Amino acid sequence: MAKNKRCGECGSYETGYRDSAGPFPWKDYRQVLLASPIRVLTCAKCGNEMSLPGDAKKLDQAIEETITLQSQRFIDQIIAREHCRQIDLAAILGVTPEHLSAIKGGARIPSFQTFNFLKTLALDANAFKVADPANFPKAANY
Ligand SMILES: [Zn+2]
Repeated sequence: MAKNKRCGECGSYETGYRDSAGPFPWKDYRQVLLASPIRVLTCAKCGNEMSLPGDAKKLDQAIEETITLQSQRFIDQIIAREHCRQIDLAAILGVTPEHLSAIKGGARIPSFQTFNFLKTLALDANAFKVADPANFPKAANY
């Protein structure tokens, strides 16, 4: 019988593949909860999730898909609510219209900062009003 991989955290051999949606830390993202779970080698004893070299690409792909999906949702949500154009949203985010198009199309992954800004604008209509350059003089009067 083949021996299981040893857990790097607790040394247990009670390890096996399990579906996991994370959250996983990734690049400058602190944690990404996957849109669809992937198979991850997991320790049954301590819960440690081990990333094997062969799994890294799969995880990258799943994370990039998740971030793209969420970014698309945020962009659509903001544009529908604010009746603005994608080019206006790009100006508010401080990115070029081309970059925002690439994010929406999945060709580029936004930096965590841009993603976080998108999320804030999507979840909080007031944040959009304050961030809109057209409202800057008014906001300065507070
Ligand atoms: Zn363990």
